[in-house]
Formats: sequence, structure tokens, C-alpha cells
Amino acid sequence: MAMRFSEDFLRQVRDKNDIESTIAPYVRLRRSGRLLQGLCPFHGEKTPSFFVYTESQSYHCFGCGTGGDVITFIKNIQNLSFYDAVKLLADRAGLRMPDNNYDDGMDKLRRRVLSANREAARFYFECLKNEKGKEGLEYLYARGLSPATVGRFGLGFAPNEWTSLKTHLNAKGFRDDELLQADLVKKSQRGTYYDTFRNRVMFPIIDLNGDVIGFGGRVMDDSKPKYYNTKDTVVYKKGSKIFALNFAKNNSEKKLILCEGYMDVISMHQYGFVNTVAGLGTALTDSQANLLSRYAEEIYLCYDADGAGQTAANRAIGILSRVNVKIRVIHLAGGKDPDEILKKNGPDYMRRLLSDALNDTEFRLSEAKSGLDLSVNNDRLNYVNAAVKVLASLPNPVEREVYISAVASEAGVGKESLTQQVEHERRRNRRKDEKAQLDRIIRETTEKQRTAFYPDGVTPGRKKAEELLLSSLFRNPDFCRQIEDMVRSEDFASALNGRIFSEIMERSGTEYPADLHTFAQFFSDEEMGHVSALTNPGIVLANTPEECLSCIRKMKEDAGAEPADVGKLNDADYMEAFRNIK
Ligand SMILES: [Zn+2]
Repeated sequence: MAMRFSEDFLRQVRDKNDIESTIAPYVRLRRSGRLLQGLCPFHGEKTPSFFVYTESQSYHCFGCGTGGDVITFIKNIQNLSFYDAVKLLADRAGLRMPDNNYDDGMDKLRRRVLSANREAARFYFECLKNEKGKEGLEYLYARGLSPATVGRFGLGFAPNEWTSLKTHLNAKGFRDDELLQADLVKKSQRGTYYDTFRNRVMFPIIDLNGDVIGFGGRVMDDSKPKYYNTKDTVVYKKGSKIFALNFAKNNSEKKLILCEGYMDVISMHQYGFVNTVAGLGTALTDSQANLLSRYAEEIYLCYDADGAGQTAANRAIGILSRVNVKIRVIHLAGGKDPDEILKKNGPDYMRRLLSDALNDTEFRLSEAKSGLDLSVNNDRLNYVNAAVKVLASLPNPVEREVYISAVASEAGVGKESLTQQVEHERRRNRRKDEKAQLDRIIRETTEKQRTAFYPDGVTPGRKKAEELLLSSLFRNPDFCRQIEDMVRSEDFASALNGRIFSEIMERSGTEYPADLHTFAQFFSDEEMGHVSALTNPGIVLANTPEECLSCIRKMKEDAGAEPADVGKLNDADYMEAFRNIK
């Protein structure tokens, strides 16, 4: 049974952590009227659909549907449990955590997994320095790493034995099922447990709180896969973390160098490029791009010089262009990867590559040109056509102008006609973009929230009525008494709406009427998105008991009519209620 925080304590935590100043370090907020608006940190976007409401101390994103209060925000942005988010905010405000035995099963497991990981990292580090890890240490030294670097990154060695880590951690009080949850052991078909990592050099993955959340392990021979990374666990989600960001995040220049592998990063750090990071075993994701953009204004892509590396760089440019960063692409001349280049040519050479790095436009234009001979008419035409696509994608008019001139003179075509072609392409893109954007918003917000929370066949009118009723009761708890005999939680088509309704009714007339914050402790992130849509101060309401009554009437009417008009229904009037945001 999960223990609750007391309402009073949570209120104190919220009161002492103003939502605007809590969110400000993560999102550049612009004031528009009574609202604050910015680019959503939870999904990639270029037009701001993330809103902060200071009067209700809440936030909501109309692009991806997330929302909540200051605790929900910290929980999601830092990827913490509810307990840890409260603790972080309480600590920051100088509040003492209550001594009660808060015991949420998930939180407890997270803490056990993190401490098992920390013990494992210590164990691997010790092994690297004793007889068992001799081969591993020799390998790392042969790769040119210094003892200081090995220590700084906490590198280690997993012995070539089946149960040495398991035995060690069992003796420290960790149960096999906890180790399995951490992916430190695997379970055999016979039901016995054995170490996940064996005969591998170990790279601990440390998050921004300084916790060891997983490991990458490299084989000592040529067997495959060369690297094994911890699979997804309660504390580690692939594609959401960045290796070495814990070291690199504090660079004052707001620049990050993004490499492909652990060894590249470590080698770069050893040579003084301490703002270097890497993704973890996957192609760059939106969520990683968001994370990077919080710590950098400029990102240098430092991918391998081979074809696979260039393809990965191209994909990364696409992902990074959705967040607010400048992109530079390093051309790794003189070696296959940064590690090799540093060893062969030294850090000054690398510094030159960094300052010669092409911006993403130059990189894409040079890609468009590669393999073509511009003295041949047909190749020149192909280049211009490919370049037009690149040029049309540039949002900044000055930048566009500069590169149009460059391409025109390079390909020997008139600047006027090239400009026209680019403008034509831009108009086409804009139409496509607008449609795609609208489709996405409708699909993501409405569909995600609605299909998840309503059974099939509920009319849009009934959905809207349920939601307006709840919105009105949130804002006018004094109406609750007037309608309490007319509608029950079972009358709601959506079970979630029914739960929200019960909570509102139960709390009406108490010291703390229900609001967004009431739900943060017990509702999932997706449910919170729904609640924050309902409590949105931008919703236009009549704020009269009559409005509530007509909602109830509509709910019952449509409930009687269903499922006569089942099918794909028009969403326009559902959207309307949530569009009137000013
Ligand atoms: Zn969003």
C-alpha cells in the first residue's frame, strides 16, 4: 500500500516552488497576455504550443498533450519518480521531508536498482585494478587512456566468470530479482541467475543526478555484439539519455560535441574536449535532441568518416533541426573516428577541424554536390534541384539570401531565377507543413487523450459535455451541491472522467477543493495531461449552474442515443472548446 504525502506538505512544496521560475531554466518563456508561452521541452516543435499558467501554477502543451503542476514538470523533465521529484523541490525550498514511511513499490525498486548499479560499478572498478581485470586494463592503456581518465569515468572490468558479480551483490544484501530488474543478471531456462556482463570492459552510464543508471560493456575479443548496453529498466530508458552529459553539461560556451561511441567521448575528454558526449547505442532520438538543446546552443556533430557515419550525421541533422540549436558538422579528415584522429594528429589538429566545421546548410549543400561534375550541364541541373530543397528549408531570410548567392555563382545560374525557384518550393512546403502540423496536433492531442480515455462509439457531444462539466466544477466548486443528485460517476462514458468527478465531489466544501494538484500524486502522466486540459484557465465557460445542467442533460441524451451514431465522427466541435485560448 502506497503511503501518501499529506496534502499540507504538497501545498508547501508547491507554494515554495513557483512554476514560472522552475520551468524557466528548461524553456525560454515569452509572455503573451496573462500566459507564458514557449517551445515544449517534451516534444520537438518549432512553433510554441507549451503554455504556463501562473494563476493556476500549471502548464499544458497543446502539441503533445502533457501537462500538470510544478511537481509533474520536474518529475517528467528530470525523469524522476513522484517521490524524488517532491524531494528535489522540497530540498530546493529548504523544506524537511516528512518522516513517514513513504513506500511506493516503484520508488523502492528504483532506489534498489540504483544502489545495485552503484555497487556493481564499484565492483567492476575494483576488478579492473586486480588480477582478474589485467587484460581489460591493458586494453584501455593500449587505447591510450591514462589512469586519471580511467578513474574519472569510473571504467571497470567484468571478470570472465558466470556469477562473480551476483555473488558479490548477494553478499551485500541484493536479491536476485532486484539484480534481474537492473539487468545486472540474466535468468537461465533452468531458473538460475548469471552475470549479464562477462569478460567485458565496463563503461558506467551516469545520469545528471550522478546516479549510475546502466552500463555499456565492450567485448575483449572479436565476438558480437561488440558492445552490450543495459536494456531498458526502471531507471534507464534507451534513447532518452546521453553519455557523459553529466561532465559536459557545465561547459560555459554552451557548445556540445556529439560523437558516436564511448571511446570517442573518453578520448576527446582526455585531450581536453570536455564538452563531448555521445548517444547510447541508438540513432539520435527526439528526446535526446531535446535534452541536448537544454545544455547547448550549438552542437558539433563528430560522426565517423565512413558512409554509415555520414548517414547517421544526416539523420541527426534532421532530428536536431526540430529543436532550437545551431548545428555544425565536423569533417573528419585524416582518420576514421575522433579517437584515431586525436592519436595521429593531436588536439590542435582537432581544434582546427572544429573551427572548420561546416554548418548544417554547408554540409547539406556539399552532400548535394558530392559525386557531381559542375562543368557538365546535366550535373549542374541536378545540383541546383537538390540545392533548392536545402535552400527552401532555411527559415532565416538573410541566411537564405547568402546561400542563394553562393549556389547561384557556384552553379553559374542567375540569382533571380534561383530565388524564384526557392520561393516556389517554400510555398509548397508551407502548405505541406501546415497540413502536417494540424494533422499532428489533432492526431496526437485529441486522439491520444480521447481514444485512451473513452470507450468506442461515444458521441463527440457527450465527450464535450463531460469535459465542460468537469471544467466548470473545477472552477466553481460551489456548484457541486446543486448537481450532486443529478449525476453520478457511473454516468460518465470515460472511467477517468468518472474518477475525476468523484474526487471533485468528495473534496467540494473541504479546506482544499479539487484542482489540478489534487491529482498529481495518483494519476499517470497521460491522465495528468487530460486533467490539465480540463483545468486549463483558457477554457471559455459560462460559469453558471445552468451550464452544468445542460451538460448533464446532453450526457444523458447522448448516452441514450448511443451507439446509434457510431463511426468516424467530426472532431471540429470537440476541438473548439480547447482552441479558445488567449
Ligand atoms: Zn509538447
